Amino acid sequence: MAEAGSFADRVKQQADIVRVIGEYVRLKKSGQNFSGLCPFHQEKTPSFSVSAVKQMYYCFGCGKGGDVFQFVMELEKAPFPEAVRTVAEKCGIAIPKPRERSPEERKENQQRSALVEMHREAAAFFARHLLQTPEGKVAQAYLEDRGLNREAVTRFGLGFAPSAGDALARFLKQKYPDNILEVCGLVGRDPSGRFYDRFRRRIMFPISNEAGKVIAFGGRAMGDDMPKYMNSPETPIYSKSGVLYHLDRAKEALRQSDFAVLVEGYMDAIAVARAGVGNVVASCGTSLAEPQTKLLARFTRRIVVNYDPDTAGQAATERSLVLLLEKEFDVRVLALPGGADPDKFIKEQGVEAYKKLLTQAPAYLDYLIGRARLMDRTTAAGKVAALNFLMPYVQRLPNRLLRSEWATRIASELRVDEPVLRAALRRAADERRSEVKPKAELLTPAVKRAERQLIRMLFEAVEFREKLAHEIASAELHRGLETRQIFEALVVAIASGQKPDAAAVAATLDDKDRRLFFEILFETLPEGTWEDAESCLGFLRHRPVAQELTDLQRQIEANPAAEELKRLVIRRMELLRLLSREREPEPAKILPDQ
Ligand SMILES: [Zn+2]
Repeated sequence: MAEAGSFADRVKQQADIVRVIGEYVRLKKSGQNFSGLCPFHQEKTPSFSVSAVKQMYYCFGCGKGGDVFQFVMELEKAPFPEAVRTVAEKCGIAIPKPRERSPEERKENQQRSALVEMHREAAAFFARHLLQTPEGKVAQAYLEDRGLNREAVTRFGLGFAPSAGDALARFLKQKYPDNILEVCGLVGRDPSGRFYDRFRRRIMFPISNEAGKVIAFGGRAMGDDMPKYMNSPETPIYSKSGVLYHLDRAKEALRQSDFAVLVEGYMDAIAVARAGVGNVVASCGTSLAEPQTKLLARFTRRIVVNYDPDTAGQAATERSLVLLLEKEFDVRVLALPGGADPDKFIKEQGVEAYKKLLTQAPAYLDYLIGRARLMDRTTAAGKVAALNFLMPYVQRLPNRLLRSEWATRIASELRVDEPVLRAALRRAADERRSEVKPKAELLTPAVKRAERQLIRMLFEAVEFREKLAHEIASAELHRGLETRQIFEALVVAIASGQKPDAAAVAATLDDKDRRLFFEILFETLPEGTWEDAESCLGFLRHRPVAQELTDLQRQIEANPAAEELKRLVIRRMELLRLLSREREPEPAKILPDQ
């Protein structure tokens, strides 16, 4: 992000976040901060806060937060350099000419622009071959057969890769050096060193990045050639897991509708978009990858998954659900009747029928219950299997009330009466699976006040920040804490000798920690002295003892045998003595109930 001394850093120092955000959101002064209706999610009462002092914003509703640049990036869907320019312009700061930093960087930039330019030319090459060659005529007829007329071909930039074997390679070789050809993914090299076309006799779908630049291709075989679909390999400009097909054209529709339709392949995306549902994107693979969910989350968190209803599609749907639920998407699932994919369904049943089903798509759990109903539930073993299928999804819900609601529903839907199964369901509803990280605000009560105060002091206490960071890091006091990543990031930032920058620290955290970090920074806490810091540190030092006490208490309550009970009680007395010998800042919080 904004590196010290850089232009971006200068803009950040001079920009007034309240003024910039105030151009997009109506802000009202409230206490130390300003608040308003969040521009990133729908709400009626303001949970969006801007702090002039910290030059940050945070939404307690949807968890978006950051500095002035992040705000512009999120809202305008702009990359970082553009956001810096926008803010500079709004604040009347003169913009210097761009310069590259290092020779390597310049070389990388040149390579990337050459590759982007090459892909643009390749797309034109494929389009020419589709429209102007005899071989292309056959391909055109094939497309017409599948409902893709000339208008669709032009709109989506479709093309044809000739069967000759090296037509594209020869074309590109006239313009690009070998070192660029070697990494472009469009051609391969045989043992004798000659370049050949990777795509032959295929319908070509240009895959664009978010900005609408072609960065890869998907090739669909005509007839029975295998594989049916073939994609560009990973290249310096293309990473499969970070691209959603059609996103560049879907942006506006996504913003307006605030939901996305997720389909499997290009043909589906094109069919759905042509049906007038512009907010469609394709994962171009059998299931969604994590970077893709992050990309999508920048536009909307509501999604209808419309994969093929075949077995592979079902498995992909279920894998994608897991990821989407963890990212707290509001997910619905559309499984089209008759085993049709979206392309086929729209062709046979029409646009209106598709749109209607889209609006009726069930919430993901209804969909899953429907799937579980298909399992054999006449035997106890069958019921257990159905529950085991459902429970992981229930456990991924971030909201405990919702989990318990669904547990009740599942019990009644699957007619689960056995107390054992009911207990298992209740447990599933009570606790989230350990590998699933709970949402930040659910954690809030559990994260001890001392941790929060220390984080604040690391961030704000100019006089003793460095000393504090050293104390924590040298004794690894943050080890095992839920906030340890935040401590780690702050310690690293402070070690660089500069005032820690909230946005830069946040950028190194995962979603849960980032939210927690912002919540702590926006909390009203008294400014701490070094004495306060010491007492908080004491609390962290006693943590292992307190933890052991809690465990002991639990074991004692479990009615152990007399001999064991005696041992536990003795150990507990030892620990209590140990604790009382030293000054304890918050005994009420760490000692178990007596
Ligand atoms: Zn929000």
